[in-house]
Amino acid sequence: MDRFRTIIEPFRIHAVEPIRITTREERAAAVEAAGWNLFALHADDVLIDLLTDSGTGAMSRDQWAAIQHGDESYAGSPSWFVFLESVTELWPFRHVIPTHQGRAAERILFSVIGGAGKVIPNNTHFDTTRANVEATGAEAVDLVIAEGRDPAAIHPFKGNVDVAALESLLAARAADVPVVFVTVTNNSGGGQPVSLENLRAVRAVCDRFGVPLFLDACRFAENAWFIKAREPGQADRAIPDIVREMAALADGMTMSAKKDGLANIGGWLATNDDALAEACRNVLILTEGFPTYGGLTGRDLEAIAQGLREVVQDDYLRYRIRSTAYLGEALDAAGVPLVKPFGGHAIYLDARALLPHIPALQYPGQALAVALYVEGGIRGCEIGTVMFGRHPDGTETPASMDLVRLAIPRRTYTQSHIDYVIEVVGAVASRASELRGFRMVEPQPAALRHFTARFEPLS
Ligand SMILES: *Cc1c(COP(=O)(O)O)cnc(C)c1O
Repeated sequence: MDRFRTIIEPFRIHAVEPIRITTREERAAAVEAAGWNLFALHADDVLIDLLTDSGTGAMSRDQWAAIQHGDESYAGSPSWFVFLESVTELWPFRHVIPTHQGRAAERILFSVIGGAGKVIPNNTHFDTTRANVEATGAEAVDLVIAEGRDPAAIHPFKGNVDVAALESLLAARAADVPVVFVTVTNNSGGGQPVSLENLRAVRAVCDRFGVPLFLDACRFAENAWFIKAREPGQADRAIPDIVREMAALADGMTMSAKKDGLANIGGWLATNDDALAEACRNVLILTEGFPTYGGLTGRDLEAIAQGLREVVQDDYLRYRIRSTAYLGEALDAAGVPLVKPFGGHAIYLDARALLPHIPALQYPGQALAVALYVEGGIRGCEIGTVMFGRHPDGTETPASMDLVRLAIPRRTYTQSHIDYVIEVVGAVASRASELRGFRMVEPQPAALRHFTARFEPLS
């Protein structure tokens, strides 16, 4: 099969959703009405929606069939046990706490272990993770390796933690660090993987200082595929084995099943710590639901259980990683600046490099994302100064990178959709010097401002 270059999607289409074709004029009007915030668009006005890969994938025949088995008993539903068995097959933690999505797991965990004076290190905090840490008064510190902050640097595991930096943080402040987090793959750092070797080194440092290690495991299967493909000695291992080794190196995890759960909703928090689990379940009952369903229906639990069995299959992961790279390779050949190597779930355009005439505080990523929408109806997501530029004290500084993420929903778009995306990005890049920056309309939202802020184009 590897003899041929054409990517075969390892599925046939079973049900179709129409895409509404729009004109450039319609899109220009729609984005103006949305305050130039792509989150405020009506999704019917989007042609190819690459805003996120979160909960936007297609479910399989077997997941839809599993949904019919959903049992909606309030407590002890059979669907809960199906879910628990599927989760612990890969992640054998003592306590699994279901939540309606990843950020609920984060909120519950950090409300228990966070607070003023605490510090939470991570390779790179995802936006909701950072926001949930900061909402408790704790400090979120990003300790990714230097290569991980340079969009052009080539490294097989650009999501790796800077172990020396972690060590000096813990040497100075271990008593204030309730947990060390590692995000696999490193979403905000470009969907870059973390090696087993790095996880082992982080584990050793955590052990030395007596601090637990948790994984933000949203894209664990994509991370495991990169380990199999790139890490010496891992090529012949089965993906579930690699995942179980990742699990064995950690004391717990947070998870969004909207990513590598192949589901449209769901998540969980897991830990081996009995006291922590009890405290978290108490919060869960207050805000999410009884511990055998969290914020989920029985049918959601079934869909996730089946999704976890499918996401670790080689045919699926080979297609997933290869088809994302296909988009990156074509844009790279067209001279568009990108984060390299290509991440697992998304291609990240380097807006700061493409638009050097737009200062970071005029949001080059926003300018590029809006242009892709108006030009071709493609919705990407700014990951830069709009998302990360503002600090809890109200000051604003440029984020470390200004990127536009083109996230690929799982099993949803075909290669011809992606060929169209390649054409549109190329057309926008060829007139990059005409793009203008934006300013944010005051008053700005207090937290996670990128979701609801409104903008005005600068002339
Ligand atoms: C999506 C995501 C989350 C949050 O999960 P939700 O299900 O969107 O709440 C946390 N961390 C990472 C790395 C993510 O990609």
